[in-house]
Amino acid sequence: MLFLLPAGIFYGMRDLKNFKKLIDSPKRVVITTHYKPDADALGSSLGLAEFLRKKKHNVSVITPSDYPDFLSWMKGNDKVINYEANGNQEKSAKLIEKADIIFCLDFNNLSRINSLGEKVQAASAIKVLIDHHLEPDNFADYEFWSTEASATSELVYDMIVALGEKDLIDVKIAENLYAGIMTDTGQFKHPNTNRNVHIITAELMEIGADVSKVGKLIYDNNSIDRLKFTGFALSKRLTVLPEYNTAYFVISKRDLAKFNSKTGDTEGLVNYALSLKGVIFACLISERNDGVRLSLRSKGKFPVNKFAKENFDGGGHRNAAGGTSDLNLENTVEKFIGLLPKYKHLLIKNFKKEIKI
Ligand code: 5GP
Ligand code: MN
Repeated sequence: MLFLLPAGIFYGMRDLKNFKKLIDSPKRVVITTHYKPDADALGSSLGLAEFLRKKKHNVSVITPSDYPDFLSWMKGNDKVINYEANGNQEKSAKLIEKADIIFCLDFNNLSRINSLGEKVQAASAIKVLIDHHLEPDNFADYEFWSTEASATSELVYDMIVALGEKDLIDVKIAENLYAGIMTDTGQFKHPNTNRNVHIITAELMEIGADVSKVGKLIYDNNSIDRLKFTGFALSKRLTVLPEYNTAYFVISKRDLAKFNSKTGDTEGLVNYALSLKGVIFACLISERNDGVRLSLRSKGKFPVNKFAKENFDGGGHRNAAGGTSDLNLENTVEKFIGLLPKYKHLLIKNFKKEIKI
């Protein structure tokens, strides 16, 4: 069953009625989101959780991993179960097994939640996907899905409105959802910043969301280690390849350890590479405990999700994607550089389009 809810377009009223009936009486609900949740993943999950709690559901939010400290202000954060933390695996497994409904937010594929994915797959609960990534796997009974949506938080807002329950969105829910929209649009700068985004933001402000406060909580909450790490990465770990309109960072485990790096400390780093004049393709290659990760960004039409899918078992959006590598850091960098000639034509073509104002 598929719902499309972007910009006021809405299909599937009959299914919406069934969905409404489903959530109109208290249930055991689990909400889960992707590994290393960002502000949209967590904001949409906690926004939905608070909404469902108001409707008297018994709600557990399970994240596959920890997430940055700068998200801990969100309402409902104190109740989040981090699956990776000691003792939480068994508790999470039981909640998933016993759930009546499992909501999967801000991811399109059960492999994005690691071993939690198998448990969700096996569960007898009704599954609901709320997501804005391309090509979702077909595992959910209900899908609130649109790639037109800037953020999963936008879809959660649209869904609550479509259910006729807008009155239940309070200031705290509004601020959680606003955080997701603000960050997934790159502070209202990315091409996904459409009319609906601004309309919803205005509505959230009308409800009382303090957008200045949320902006400060997320962006002006750096540790000195993080700032120094950013300075180090910019001066020592950034390479620009003008012939490919490309720039990339390479960050080793040692670099991360040297600056006491915490979850979220590299978030946004790749955007510095993309901010360079002449660069339309940027990459952060980082060595993590569980392997080498690539975080990819582009300006304009160069499809980094395709690049990630074709070469690094990943995916995402056209302008923001990610992937992983089985190789070590050095060989991953070599592979990345080796791939560029194949994409040179596309990179140059898109760069030329970008500079035409
Ligand atoms: P980030 O670079 O911020 O980790 O991820 C950027 C975008 O790419 C996110 O929207 C995320 O959904 C997607 N993404 C990141 N890593 C992966 C991955 O390994 N597989 C897939 N399919 N998408 C990813
Ligand atoms: Mn998102």
